[in-house]
Amino acid sequence: MSSAPPSRPWRAISVRLTVYYSAYFVGSVVLLLGLAYFLLSSSLQRKDREAILGELRELAALYRGGGPTAIQDLLAAQEASGASEPFVVRVLGSDHTIRFMWKPSPLALDLERLRTAAIVPEQDWVFLSLSGPDTPALEITSVALADGGRLEVGGSTADRDEVLRHFRWVVLLALVPVLVLGIAGGALLATSTLRPIRQILRAVRAVTEGQMRVRVPTRQSGDELDELIFLFNGMLERIVALVEGMRSALDNVAHELRTPIMRIRGTAELVVHSDAPPEVVRQTLGECLEELDQLLAMLNTLMDISEAEAGALKLRAEPVDLAVIIGEVAELYQYVAQDKTVTVSTSAAPDLWVTADRHRIRQVVANLLDNAIKYTPSGGRVEIGAVRDDRGAVIRIRDTGIGIPSLELPRIWQRLYRGEGARGQPGLGLGLSLVRAVVHAHHGRLEVSSRPGAGSEFTVIFPGEHVGQDSQDAAATVQLSKL
Ligand code: ADP
Repeated sequence: MSSAPPSRPWRAISVRLTVYYSAYFVGSVVLLLGLAYFLLSSSLQRKDREAILGELRELAALYRGGGPTAIQDLLAAQEASGASEPFVVRVLGSDHTIRFMWKPSPLALDLERLRTAAIVPEQDWVFLSLSGPDTPALEITSVALADGGRLEVGGSTADRDEVLRHFRWVVLLALVPVLVLGIAGGALLATSTLRPIRQILRAVRAVTEGQMRVRVPTRQSGDELDELIFLFNGMLERIVALVEGMRSALDNVAHELRTPIMRIRGTAELVVHSDAPPEVVRQTLGECLEELDQLLAMLNTLMDISEAEAGALKLRAEPVDLAVIIGEVAELYQYVAQDKTVTVSTSAAPDLWVTADRHRIRQVVANLLDNAIKYTPSGGRVEIGAVRDDRGAVIRIRDTGIGIPSLELPRIWQRLYRGEGARGQPGLGLGLSLVRAVVHAHHGRLEVSSRPGAGSEFTVIFPGEHVGQDSQDAAATVQLSKL
């Protein structure tokens, strides 16, 4: 038996699923938060810049009317009334000298920094930190003035930096539960998804240890795993049935072989140890041969049944006219029937073509007719007919014989089973098993109804369309896939 692959828990599907799911979940959350951060930051920046541009336009208009003094007056008045705007202003002359600078009082900006700051190109934005590199910055833009000078207006980014810093903290804090939730969710998902697989694994382990009765519980969820469990349980049922069938067949065969072999041995021993004349020896050997032939026939039939049940019986599929087969078999059995004074009548519809193995179908009809004659007392009747109806091609064999008790009916198809009524009649109890195996091998069906004392009726149904002889391919050997 091959050994189990080494167990590597970190490579278990559940661990990998948990890692994938958690990584996907956390990654998605980080991506979403990053997008939110970017949108918030750009929207705050746009708002700040709109305010700065508004101020720039307003002051430029003022400049056109009254020069730098007009701006200076307005800003001073605003400061005096406590309603100053939070903007930094710098006016440069055409020679780039600073003509005027302004900062609102609450803003912690060293004016010297503003004085030495580089000139801001038009339609551009320049950042100027208030003191050190980590302190809030000023965001400045400019517009050219009619006199060749330049008006620069800047606003602090402190407010939006504060909002964004706050947002970053919140995100960082939120990431901790998100991470925990992601890993826990992943683990839960992986565990619950793989539960049926683990149950199947347990069941397989139990089966390999010989516990054939174990089954995986179904969940009634109707998903693929449920289907897998259903098929798995079905497969186990089938294996159990096959193993039990084989075991009981083996028991039966051993039992059935023992008696004739003992008989042959006893006879041979008797002859060996006696001074019997040659003709007696010859006669005894003849009897032994007959017994051996019967044994061989039984073994061959058993092998045919096993092959058919295992799906390995080779069939020579060809167009077969059931009416012809029935005629041939009935003719073969007419003397047996006459001997027993049993009337056999046939009524097969002509041209009843099916695709089948001629030899095997003949075996089916012969076995059923043999039984019908065998289990019908003298003076009885056997009718054998074939028709095509909506179920397909149907062969029906009816007798007025001893019938089969209802308790025996389910067992008559078992190998080596012989009913009460078969006592005193020749037979091995293999005829109907072979009939069933061959009919199933042709994807056909069997039905039986019987009343003890009144007779039995066996029906063989070959489903499928009518096939004419002309439309048939040449005989082909088909490997059976199904019983
Ligand atoms: P056997 O060699 O005993 O005939 P079969 O497999 O052909 O074995 O049949 C199994 C049993 O089914 C028989 O022993 C008999 O009890 C019952 N049986 C089969 N066919 C008939 C029938 N036409 N009438 C009554 N009993 C039947």
